Amino acid sequence: MEPDWLKKGLEHIWLPYAQMKTAVQPMAAVKTEGVRITLSDGRELIDGVSSWWTAAHGYNHPRLLSAVARQLETMPHVMLGGLAHEQPYRLAARLADVAPGALNHVFFTESGSVAVEVAMKIAVQYWRNIRGENRPKFLSFKGGYHGDTFATMAVCDPEEGMHRLFQDALLPQYVTDLPKDDESYDGLDRFLSTHKDIAAVMVEPLIQGAAGMQMFDVEVLQHLRELCDRHDVLLIFDEIFTGFGRTGALFAADKSQVVPDIMTLGKALTGGVCPLAATIASKRVFQGFYDDDPAKALMHGPTFCGHALGCAAANASLDLFEEEPRLDQVQKIEQRLSAGLAPLRTYDAVKDVRVMGAVAAVELSQAYNVEQARARFIERGSFIRPLGRVIYLSPSYVMGGSDLDHLIETIHEEVMLLEGDQSAWM
Ligand SMILES: *Cc1c(COP(=O)(O)O)cnc(C)c1O
Repeated sequence: MEPDWLKKGLEHIWLPYAQMKTAVQPMAAVKTEGVRITLSDGRELIDGVSSWWTAAHGYNHPRLLSAVARQLETMPHVMLGGLAHEQPYRLAARLADVAPGALNHVFFTESGSVAVEVAMKIAVQYWRNIRGENRPKFLSFKGGYHGDTFATMAVCDPEEGMHRLFQDALLPQYVTDLPKDDESYDGLDRFLSTHKDIAAVMVEPLIQGAAGMQMFDVEVLQHLRELCDRHDVLLIFDEIFTGFGRTGALFAADKSQVVPDIMTLGKALTGGVCPLAATIASKRVFQGFYDDDPAKALMHGPTFCGHALGCAAANASLDLFEEEPRLDQVQKIEQRLSAGLAPLRTYDAVKDVRVMGAVAAVELSQAYNVEQARARFIERGSFIRPLGRVIYLSPSYVMGGSDLDHLIETIHEEVMLLEGDQSAWM
């Protein structure tokens, strides 16, 4: 029943964010289809989180598979230095087309963290290129998550547990509370007027994902845009989670009618099929690099820049967004999640219920045993992975009503259990 590779591999594989001594042994997944993951013992789980928020069209979508297969047969990849090939070139033009405003210039990387690093490098080099200014700093927000690499850790929330250990090894950045009222906007205004070393303000627009699906209003982004314009600072939207329909619009920037100077994309970019990320800069930012001086070129170049398989998947994913009613599906999911989960607000065990687009979060009022909860979800045929005390759903947009209802029902049962049984809490 248990596959032979599991035990042997476990002695050698080092898993993400896992204490290898005490981590619960992961379940072996052997097949996916639609919104379902099949385990080696034959059980099927309904996936409530779409593999770290990537599988927007469900698993094994025939269009994504055939696009990658076709590319694989013709030319798996060639380097982007000195050679041009179709998929990244097509994808750059299409992303420029769907991205808001003058976000027109696309740089490809393989992971979200690196896309954010590239955004940071672009911002720093931009001010140096156009004015010879040295602006090494960024302003970002508590609750933010922008990646796991050294530069990105420094703009993440400094308090949450994942990166605190490295604080001394990071270049310190300005991380402050997300503004919410006139007083805090004034505070940011003063801060930006007295700190002339800031290259850019960086924010996860509308939903801070990894912090537990913390949602905020479009006005915050509108104020940030105003403040950045007033103080001549770039604005970066990290849309690695929110991009491609998650909030109900193709980008959170569309939903808020705010156009950043730089946007980062990843996660659902390829529909979860391949690792690929992108950093998109505005025409104005790109112009800061466009020069006769070779030293003003953007100084970055990953080995697998513009990977052909990833870009083929991303092009096919954009086709699906064009041809299928994805944003309508997200809207229907939003309605069903709202109707299904809002009643939980009345329970003592629940502190808050939040829904936006195809994202729902039920925040519990106390810490509880997450490992036990995960096991109970599995028993109920649902793959749900709480972030601390936040039980959340970020389903694929093609999930049908009855599967969605099953996930909602699973969360109801969990809340009922917590409401009645003190021993489930910590
Ligand atoms: C996941 C995520 C990242 C990091 O992406 P990786 O591909 O894991 O490196 C950065 N920013 C946001 C908002 C994310 O959700």
